[in-house]
Amino acid sequence: MNLVLFGPPGAGKGTQSKLLTEKRSLPQLSTGDMLRAAIEAGTPLGLACKALMAKGELVSDETVISIIAERYDQPDCKNGAVFDGFPRTVPQAEALDKMLAERGRKIDLVLELKVDDAALLARVESRIKAGGVLRSDDTPDTLRHRLQVYYLNTAPLIGFYKAQGKLKTLDGMAAIPEVTRQIDAALDGVAAKA
Ligand code: ADP
Repeated sequence: MNLVLFGPPGAGKGTQSKLLTEKRSLPQLSTGDMLRAAIEAGTPLGLACKALMAKGELVSDETVISIIAERYDQPDCKNGAVFDGFPRTVPQAEALDKMLAERGRKIDLVLELKVDDAALLARVESRIKAGGVLRSDDTPDTLRHRLQVYYLNTAPLIGFYKAQGKLKTLDGMAAIPEVTRQIDAALDGVAAKA
C-alpha cells in the first residue's frame, strides 16, 4: 500500500506517519527528514538546500523527486511506503504517479490532515516557550511563511487528488489517538475495497 500524508506544516504528519510505520510495517519517506540528514552529513545536496529550508522555501522539484525515487527503490519499500511531506507541488505529484506507474504501483490513499492556521502557530509558540528542541525553521515568522508556501504551492494538490478519487480529509485538530483512529478507519476502507 502506498499512502500520502498531506497537510500544512505542524499538522502532525510526522507523528502519524511514525505510528503508521510501526503498525503497518510501511517505511516513512519524509523528504524533510532526508534533506535534514543531507544537511547534517554536509553533502553537496545538503549545502544546496540549507538556506532555502531555513527560510521556509521549497527546494527544487528535481531534487526531491530524485531523492524519493532513489529511496523508493530500497528493498524495504517492496510493500509500499508512507509519503510524508512529499509531494508538495503538482509537478511532484505527477512525478510520483509516473514513478509508481513505472514500477507497476500506485497511490492508494491520500490522507489530508486539516488544521487551522491559528492552532499551528500556537503549537510552534508553545514549543518555543517550553524550550524544546527546535528546528531552524520553527520560528513564528518562518512558520507563517511556510504556511503561505503551503497554500500557494501545496494546497492545489487537494483538487488534484480529489479528481483522482483518492483524497480522504481528516480532522487534524483532534487529539493524536483520535487522528490515528480516523486513519485506521480510512485504511480499513481501502483494504475492504482491495
Ligand atoms: P513541515 O511539514 O513541518 O514543513 P518538513 O520536514 O516536511 O516540515 O519540511 C521542511 C522543509 O524541507 C520545507 O520547508 C522545505 O524547505 C523542504 N522540503 C521538504 N519536503 C519538500 C518537498 N517535497 N519539496 C520541496 N521542499 C521540501
